[in-house]
Amino acid sequence: MIFDMEMSQHGRNVDDVIADLKAKRVGDARWQDGRTFGLVFDGGPSVHTVAEQAAIMYLHENALNPMAFPSLGEIQNEVVAWTAGLLHGPDTAAGFLTSGGTESIQCAVLAARERCRAERGIEFGEIVVAESAHAAFHKSAHMYGMPIHTTPVGDHWTADVDAMAAAVTDQTVLVVGSAPQFPQGVVDPIPEIAQLAATVGANCHVDACMGGFVLPFAEMLGRPVPPWDFRVDGVHSISADIHKLGYAPKGVSVVLHRTKELRRHQIFLFDAWLGGFYGSPNLQGTRSGLPMAAAWAVMQHLGIDGYVELTGKVLETADRVRAGVSAIDGLRVLGDGDYHLVAIASDPAGDAPLDVFALGDAMAKRDWYLDRQGPPDSLHATVSNGNAAVIDQFLVDLQAGVDEVRGHTTADRTTTYSAVE
Ligand SMILES: *Cc1c(COP(=O)(O)O)cnc(C)c1O
Repeated sequence: MIFDMEMSQHGRNVDDVIADLKAKRVGDARWQDGRTFGLVFDGGPSVHTVAEQAAIMYLHENALNPMAFPSLGEIQNEVVAWTAGLLHGPDTAAGFLTSGGTESIQCAVLAARERCRAERGIEFGEIVVAESAHAAFHKSAHMYGMPIHTTPVGDHWTADVDAMAAAVTDQTVLVVGSAPQFPQGVVDPIPEIAQLAATVGANCHVDACMGGFVLPFAEMLGRPVPPWDFRVDGVHSISADIHKLGYAPKGVSVVLHRTKELRRHQIFLFDAWLGGFYGSPNLQGTRSGLPMAAAWAVMQHLGIDGYVELTGKVLETADRVRAGVSAIDGLRVLGDGDYHLVAIASDPAGDAPLDVFALGDAMAKRDWYLDRQGPPDSLHATVSNGNAAVIDQFLVDLQAGVDEVRGHTTADRTTTYSAVE
């Protein structure tokens, strides 16, 4: 009731306020126990410690003006440079930190629109994406007034480049590939997509929000990784989220461009108001220093060796999930993803196909949190370090959930990537 929501007239003491906040959290997802497959990515106790100490130091700092806080300018430059190194950026590579994958994508889409305005005279250039590309591209198209064309994926859930080619015209300013895409966790054919973009002078963006802090280390571990980063000619920009498998607390991602000139197109410079020069690298104005400093601290703390170790553990855990799911009659894994994303679907070839949404409910009763996604109906697991210790129990519970729901369906067909309260 709205009456209950009036702000208190008199302030309350610190202990009471914090006690109430603690009480509010009882129903929240139990990520600390490794029971969420997504949303929170737990790098372990020492990663928490270093992130928390950095966060407290930078809780109040504002990166709006790095002249006032030169340390935040340095932090941004260093994190961007380290990430460019991991992604084999050339010496000319340049980028910025943003608040997350969505904002990195919004910056890359804006850069594509502005570049083609400047160089090709196209006012509202068009975007071509596979249907597996993240919703943030559609959100960007919506915000910037850019037509967006969606093409089907092929048999292996990867972007079908022939279908994309059919959607590319002389008005196309951006062609997108994902490394990997979110729903089934497979890497699109990036070299072909980059070549396609080049045929019309469009930008090619690689969405590595999920893979940016996994694929480089998977390659170091000797796992097969198809070409996807700046080593592919014709890739203009890449987004990589540190707040996912980079294990930084939320609010930080990197958007990288092959050159400073390409990056220039995402920057807004303005001085025709009464407040003075306004230079803005991304979509934010006032900009918290906290996530930037925490990301810097986590990357310093882990180092390449730390990430390789975490990635090895995560990929082995994801392999066990894939093997466990495939061994259950009525279930299958969608796509032949090799990395940390697993889509669990009903197997039509099984003796008794299952309703995976009913299975999701049965798992929720057992305190496991998996996203419902589709089409097709599937349960989505982003496997990360926090899940490793409890994965045996997860597979035991998955079998129990399957036994419970076999023959049952649920009427609730909603999907749950995110919500608006
Ligand atoms: C998470 C994700 C995004 C969006 O990132 P946010 O940090 O949630 O804004 C974009 N693309 C892919 C592939 C993702 O996994």
